[in-house]
Amino acid sequence: MKLQLSTPDRSPKYIEWFVGKKRGFLMRAWSISIGRIFGVELRVHWTFYFLLPLFVWYTDYASHGTANEERDLALVGITFASVLAHELGHGLVARRFGIRVKSIILLPLGGIAQLDDSLPASDPLAGDELLSRKATKLVAWKRDIRIAIAGPLANLLTALVSCGVILVVAPHVDLRTWPFMQIGNLPRSLVWANLYLAGFTLLPAYPMDGGRVLRALFTRRMDPVQATRRAVSIGQAFATLFILVGMLLPNYWLTLVGLFLFIASQMEERSVVFQSVLEKVHLEDIMLTDFATLSPADTLEDALEKAVHSLQDDFPVIRGSDMVGVISRQKILEALRLEGNGYVQAVMNRIFEVAQKGESLASAFRKLTARNLSIIPVVEDQRLVGIVTWQNLLHSMALRAESRKRRKQALNS
Ligand SMILES: [Zn+2]
Repeated sequence: MKLQLSTPDRSPKYIEWFVGKKRGFLMRAWSISIGRIFGVELRVHWTFYFLLPLFVWYTDYASHGTANEERDLALVGITFASVLAHELGHGLVARRFGIRVKSIILLPLGGIAQLDDSLPASDPLAGDELLSRKATKLVAWKRDIRIAIAGPLANLLTALVSCGVILVVAPHVDLRTWPFMQIGNLPRSLVWANLYLAGFTLLPAYPMDGGRVLRALFTRRMDPVQATRRAVSIGQAFATLFILVGMLLPNYWLTLVGLFLFIASQMEERSVVFQSVLEKVHLEDIMLTDFATLSPADTLEDALEKAVHSLQDDFPVIRGSDMVGVISRQKILEALRLEGNGYVQAVMNRIFEVAQKGESLASAFRKLTARNLSIIPVVEDQRLVGIVTWQNLLHSMALRAESRKRRKQALNS
């Protein structure tokens, strides 16, 4: 019998996407780091280097028959500064609430402040025992609103300050003639770029800032999933409106924005729904209770023999009643190939995380992805009672979805 040396699918791609990991990764992969500001990594998306300059240049060229590249670049720079002010607003306020800001990614239509919410234990709100559950919830929605409006507020402030400076330094500059953003009048463009950005992001179209405020308000009276769903449907109504109006005018820029908004709100909804399911399911509901274990004194050939007779890809290694490590089928095969027969003890992975059986699936996910693990032993009173693996997570989630569907059908008929 020939055993295939295949890489187990450690974290299925679509799950990474849903929990936001993949999306964050894609955004990062398509952007370049240009330094740090207030201790936060600043990254610029490729559209800023390529698409926006091209768009500004084309607009300039189409309306004048010739283009002034220096002024075009200056307008790109103004957009850059306005988006930066916006994201810094979000980032700095988030940090005041104890949320770590991983990085700020700048996109032409507004950026993304990547907040690290994967560490709920370090959340000062959750840790404060004086706060009752209700109070925590209350503070959470207020916090979300403050973080959301900090971006548009930063733009309003920038507009106000630059307006004031222009009025003092160059009072002859005309600030009120349309088109407001134009390479012919860069000071006016700076003021209006910020006003536009503030106004646009304040639209109650989730996942834009105005929509986030709306969602936070909804969470006062309903659970997060319901609140997100409601905010998303309002956001999608706006997106549809943008697409239609954009096509009627025609203004394809607006249509494009509408399309992006539609897709973004849908992804956001899925991710929130998925997260909440993960929070509700406990490990004891889905863990494997019938599983094989190895002993550190087993030889690799013994271990391989056991692996052949089991569907498991990963095995807990047990000495007496203590868990001392984990080892994967792949590791056993690799070690046998490279070094010949030896003991499990020498090859096993001694670094692993355990979970309590009452822990939520969400926390198991965090542990699996944070350290790129493939198995989590589940314990009760320090006794091994089950294991959770990627493979088993996927299967049991599919099964649970199926049984929910059947229950629903049974209720309806
Ligand atoms: Zn924003």
